[in-house]
Amino acid sequence: MKSRLLRTAALLSALAAIPALSQDGPPVTEVTGDRIVNADQEPGNWLSHGRTYSEQRYSPLDQITTDNVGELGLGWFADLPERRGIEATPIVVDGRMYVSSAWSNVYAFDAKTGEPLWSWDAGVPKIKGKDACCDVVNRGVAAWGNNIYVATIDGRLVALDAGTGETVWDKNTIDPDWPYTITGAPRAADGKIVIGNAGAELGVRGYVTAYDAETGDQLWRFYTVPGDPSKGFENAAMEMAAETWTGEWWKYGGGGTVWDSIVYDPEQDYFYLGVGNGAPWNRDIRSPDGGDNLFLSSIVAVKADTGEYVWHYQGTPGDTWDFTATQQIMMLDLEIDGEMRKTLVQAPKNGFFYVIDRTNGELISANGYVPQTWTSGIDMETGRPIETEGARYPNPDEPTLVFPSPFGGHNWHPMAYSPQTNLVYFSAQEIPFVFRKDTEFEFAQGRWNLGTRFEYSSLPEDPAEVAKLLPLLKGRLLAWDPVKNEEAFHVEHPGPWNGGVLATAGGLVFQGTPGGEFAAYDAANGDKLWSTQTNTGVVAGPVSYAVDGEQYIAVTVGWGTVFGLIVPGAQEPRSRVLVFRIGGEETLPASEMAAAEWPELEEVSASAEAIAHGKSLYLTQCFMCHGDAAMSGGVLPDLRMAQPEVHAIWNEIVLDGGFNEKGMPSFGDVMSPDDAQAIRQYILARAHATRPKD
Ligand code: CA
Repeated sequence: MKSRLLRTAALLSALAAIPALSQDGPPVTEVTGDRIVNADQEPGNWLSHGRTYSEQRYSPLDQITTDNVGELGLGWFADLPERRGIEATPIVVDGRMYVSSAWSNVYAFDAKTGEPLWSWDAGVPKIKGKDACCDVVNRGVAAWGNNIYVATIDGRLVALDAGTGETVWDKNTIDPDWPYTITGAPRAADGKIVIGNAGAELGVRGYVTAYDAETGDQLWRFYTVPGDPSKGFENAAMEMAAETWTGEWWKYGGGGTVWDSIVYDPEQDYFYLGVGNGAPWNRDIRSPDGGDNLFLSSIVAVKADTGEYVWHYQGTPGDTWDFTATQQIMMLDLEIDGEMRKTLVQAPKNGFFYVIDRTNGELISANGYVPQTWTSGIDMETGRPIETEGARYPNPDEPTLVFPSPFGGHNWHPMAYSPQTNLVYFSAQEIPFVFRKDTEFEFAQGRWNLGTRFEYSSLPEDPAEVAKLLPLLKGRLLAWDPVKNEEAFHVEHPGPWNGGVLATAGGLVFQGTPGGEFAAYDAANGDKLWSTQTNTGVVAGPVSYAVDGEQYIAVTVGWGTVFGLIVPGAQEPRSRVLVFRIGGEETLPASEMAAAEWPELEEVSASAEAIAHGKSLYLTQCFMCHGDAAMSGGVLPDLRMAQPEVHAIWNEIVLDGGFNEKGMPSFGDVMSPDDAQAIRQYILARAHATRPKD
């Protein structure tokens, strides 16, 4: 009997030892809703996307201060193999860091030493990149129980074992017949994992789905725009929304993708969803007799248990400018006119900073945080914007300049709030865009379907003109008073597309730039107190955490994202995790950026008319990956430098999918052989015009 007990005990201890043997690094601890709700009691961790459910991105850690931040140095760094844009916020749980990279791959590190613990390859086929409007980025993972959750660019939601990185479950969340992608971070709350999707530029119908965290079973799905009325509506909210649409919008999908902000409010037991733009962009096409097109460009509150609609606020009724309201939603309790209000604040693409009562969706205040040409302000009686005449570009003969642009006055780059200063900090920018109604629009599944002609918003062809124009694009760290709803101060940066923001109890605000600087500012006045050069672009939101009593600042860096693909001005394509601490002495390797090697260029042989046709096609189908005016941002191939052997098989590549495995889609369904050659001649013309003269 005794020996049997001993044997059993020995067996049990052997079993118990198995997970420990297969787990490296600090032990995995269980992440619960209570832990996230009470996240301020464990300030050393960054348990969820915005650290707390309020998504304020404020770290209570105060070891790194305005006084000693000058001693900040690199503690460790890790190279990730993707060498693409990276937008991820790391999650840190008890000394273990989890971070996603391009192509939705996930990495775990010892947060103190940087020792790699495991990695997980999402296995996304490279050709799926064609459906990603804005690079194959991923904004981060979620932690719940003993799992790490990631959503993939090919539309899956996957649970990984936090200890080993092994797949626990893997669910497809999309209809593969439509060009959906996912770039957003899943949110974990109330035993659920909630995820939206992206793809409105290519034509999809947006929705958000909640899954059981443990089993992966679908619990509810909330569509953000109505489907084909003849098939019946999913719920009363869709029936209500359909009243605000005209025409046959469902054929284009309608849009309204929730590709970034999803916020859980434990008090109301709601999820707040930030809903995206229309598909196509131009309302005249998707809803030809007008209408507000609910719930495009809105914040929608749904019940956490059921996904049932509660309230909405639509910032841009009848969106026609790609004015998504997917941007970060932050919960703030603010004293306004002597009364404590439970608010949401958001600075979406359309240029208004909104303060909204989160219990009922009532608009409290709205003010422009960047110049806006499409509106003269908000009618506070109705909560609707007052539109400027002509802003909807009704006349196809008149290109219409609009601020903000589809890049947004502010985009997905995370905001931060400091309770020390009572200010919200975020990346604001001024980028113009020229809209012009596309009278030749034809819907093509899986292609860019906008209803405006990009060729009017393209950069000039003369590099000297481009050099003059780029400095006119502006970007800043904006410190905003959400109670007065006005600017407190700003820090002007060299250009737009600056990074997400972290605020800390050390009186600091951290932010990077696409030019590669990562800096700390005094949260009270914006004085720059420390900075370092990262040798690549910095756009992600930094985090702060502590291990063994020491505070760290972490940020993911890498050149790419939508801006890096389109806009010339290359940085080294890198994907890295950088972790800073006081006294850190690690150094980054020197940049491996090589000078561009120009090939022998074939002479241009096409007529000016054919080249103009090629330019028009290029600016419809090619520029999102290969760069505006054929000037690459350096992440994907610069076609001007294509070798003669590539020119020799041009039509095979463009029409027949010869480079499918590299991720280059085939365009045989929308282009003829002459079309493909016209693009080739345009590229040759651009190469001759822009190559350095000896
Ligand atoms: Ca969009």
